Amino acid sequence: MGNGIVILGAGESGVGAALLAKSKGLDVFVSDLGKIQDVFKNELLENGICFEEGGHSQDRVLKASEVIKSPGIPDKSALIIELHKKGIPVISEIEFAGRYSKAFMIGITGSNGKTTTALWCYHILKQAGFDVALAGNVGTSLARTIINRDPAVVVLELSSFQLDGMNKFRCNVGVLTNITPDHLDRYNYIFQNYINAKFRITQNQVKDDIFIFGKDDPVINENLLHFNIQSGQETFSVKKKATAYIDADNLVIEYKNRIVKIPVKDISLSGKHNLYNGMAASIASIAAGANENDIISGLSNFEGVEHRLENAGTHNGVKFINDSKATNVNSTWYALDSMNQPVIWIAGGVDKGNDYSELFRLVSDKVKALICLGLDNRKLISDFSGKVPTIIESSSMEDTIIQALKIAHPGDVILLSPACASFDLFNNYEHRGRLFKSCVANLKNNPEIKL
Ligand code: ADP
Repeated sequence: MGNGIVILGAGESGVGAALLAKSKGLDVFVSDLGKIQDVFKNELLENGICFEEGGHSQDRVLKASEVIKSPGIPDKSALIIELHKKGIPVISEIEFAGRYSKAFMIGITGSNGKTTTALWCYHILKQAGFDVALAGNVGTSLARTIINRDPAVVVLELSSFQLDGMNKFRCNVGVLTNITPDHLDRYNYIFQNYINAKFRITQNQVKDDIFIFGKDDPVINENLLHFNIQSGQETFSVKKKATAYIDADNLVIEYKNRIVKIPVKDISLSGKHNLYNGMAASIASIAAGANENDIISGLSNFEGVEHRLENAGTHNGVKFINDSKATNVNSTWYALDSMNQPVIWIAGGVDKGNDYSELFRLVSDKVKALICLGLDNRKLISDFSGKVPTIIESSSMEDTIIQALKIAHPGDVILLSPACASFDLFNNYEHRGRLFKSCVANLKNNPEIKL
């Protein structure tokens, strides 16, 4: 037997787990390789939780009876390898917290659309009066969420890294939006490893549970039979008949003896990808007990999520859209696909091994200018040369907006949908998106910037 629980990483999930462990009277020690943010450090101090920062003291960590690992720490790290060698269980914060909750768990994963689907589902259920909480990747950790109360329903956004550390955790409803290559650096560059991680959403499901997935997604469909899925399967599609589908101009859901029919034009978020997200959120909500009216009002009055195809304002008839969260090619594909006006496209940043070829057709059809906003734009420039009439480089958001407005005409859209991570010029995608929005807002004070 070891010496209690060790938590590696003192971010939201690590500190949430520490607070829950402490509230349950467990012996807990927190260890972070880097510096712990002040807010979290204060919480540890206020709650009398022992911790260290700036390095792991291996001796102490290797005496743990169980280790809770932050999703940010790769399995390849030397300490994790050592823990595995010693046979010390390494789990995720979700796995740990799940032991203390009886909530009806709606787990949502996928390569894209997780946050939108999770927030949408939460919105539907909250508005319908359910005792529901939102947790996981999207904000508050599950552990922190359940310290003082156990909600009836939890909507839980799950990344593949969180799924990796889940052994017994069971989702009453599991949603898999789609699978496209992402984060391959953490999966030995083997796509199948990442696919396997995503399918863990189904791993402990039993017959009465529900697995909701995209029927139009080739990767999910090719892999369905490779997994021993016990739960009932419900699907959504914009092409075929499914649990949720499109019939003429309506979105229709036929599930659990309920028939929901809503005109697509009444759905508050636009774009095909948001039809998928809304369908997935609706099926999950019905599984948790929502009725037809709950779904129709939730689909029509959801306001969307910051940095996801967010309307950032209009200047002299030119519309600005902030899609800073589009950090991979697939999400930018959906952003471009949903544009109905000529686009000035702002892209670039840290390339995660992008293959831009799937964007070529949309870019040729819709994009009149590409502004490359990154430290190293060579790949974007070479891949899109000849496919876009104008390509410009920029290294600041302010300059990008000015350059974009020089080219724009009333009726155009200036779209920030980078297809890349943000870390070369910004702290994170939120920073990039907020800067975009504040530059747009500042245009009001700069009448000299005219079209
Ligand atoms: P995640 O939480 O999985 O990163 P988000 O809901 O935050 O997903 O959306 C991120 C970006 O991905 C959005 O800005 C949008 O461009 C794109 N996106 C959203 N939903 C989907 C979907 N269902 N399929 C493909 N792309 C999507």
